[in-house]
Amino acid sequence: MNANIVLLPGDGIGPEVVNEARLVLDAVAKLFGHSFSYSTHLLGGCAIDATGTAMPDATLKACQAADAVLLGAVGGPKWDDPQAKVRPEQGLLAIRKGLGLYANLRPVKAIPSLAKLSPLKPERVAGVDFIVIRELTGGLYFGQPKGRSTTPEGGEQAVDTLVYTDVEIRRIVRLAFELARNRRKLVTSIDKANVLESSRLWRKIAMEVGKEFPDVKLEHQLVDSAAMRLVTHAAQFDVIVTENMFGDILTDEAAVLAGSLGLLPSASLGAGKLGLYEPIHGSAPDIAGKGIANPTGTILSAAMLLRHSLGLEAEARAIEAAVSAAIDEGIHTGDLGAAKPVNTTQMGDAVRARLKR
Ligand code: ATP
Ligand code: MG
Repeated sequence: MNANIVLLPGDGIGPEVVNEARLVLDAVAKLFGHSFSYSTHLLGGCAIDATGTAMPDATLKACQAADAVLLGAVGGPKWDDPQAKVRPEQGLLAIRKGLGLYANLRPVKAIPSLAKLSPLKPERVAGVDFIVIRELTGGLYFGQPKGRSTTPEGGEQAVDTLVYTDVEIRRIVRLAFELARNRRKLVTSIDKANVLESSRLWRKIAMEVGKEFPDVKLEHQLVDSAAMRLVTHAAQFDVIVTENMFGDILTDEAAVLAGSLGLLPSASLGAGKLGLYEPIHGSAPDIAGKGIANPTGTILSAAMLLRHSLGLEAEARAIEAAVSAAIDEGIHTGDLGAAKPVNTTQMGDAVRARLKR
């Protein structure tokens, strides 16, 4: 197949890790007989330096016309001035909004040979293989009214509003069921239905959608007990779906189970096939330019790109298998605590060498 992929390397280690992932995509294309073309655009701090804005129009246009977008990371100390009017992170929000992306997917899979990196006991990490779907466009972060005012006593008050519509809930819960169908067929919908009206609507819609998927089991869990279950029995989860703020918190909690930030991929999806794929880590300014960053999270993001935007499941699995094989053979970058670490390029090479049809 032919596909047009936009690369947004961004800042810090972004260009280093995106380059490795692109070389992996090239190797997959060669192995499976596809033709991928790439164009590279500016986003984040590098875009501010070149154009004065974190997301230039040309970047959005290119992404809208693409089949998929692979992003490195944005931001860094150079642009951290709190007085600054434009900030790199605005680029990320703008691109997600511009592309209509409403679902953030973060798979978490424990790699047995890295169990020692997890803060949890090995038996609590064993068999962990789940995906968290976080709603991105609604909830407390965007609801109106929002703002600060004065109380009748002359004090200060602040308000945030949690709003969800049936349409917003239905589309994301449906995505959870569709993903679960190709996995272990269990959806855990996480809410706070004992106190929040928005959660009661969420639960009602989740049950309605569940009726369309009789082959998939639906369970509901309150967010507080779900937070606990993630550190006690995470292996029980398959597909977790939740609203924006709960998802923000739970995805970070889930990420530490795997042990290193450098390993985990993510995808942001919308109504069509177009998606934005990026590692969960940031621009890591402390190691940028040294060629030692772990490219695994970005390489696994490229696998998600193949799966979710291009429908190339076998190709995605080939990348995932090659990553697992390399890591299990002890090929580790410095962030994995290796005595003799490999560098970014060597890690990418090791994955490419293990790709099989
Ligand atoms: P952001 O604010 O963009 O989320 P952050 O400050 O939270 O970023 P990162 O930039 O992800 O965090 O870096 C946190 C730590 O993890 C740093 O010490 C960094 O070097 C390390 N780190 C992050 N990603 C990687 C990677 N791919 N390889 C090796 N180390 C990494
Ligand atoms: Mg951070």
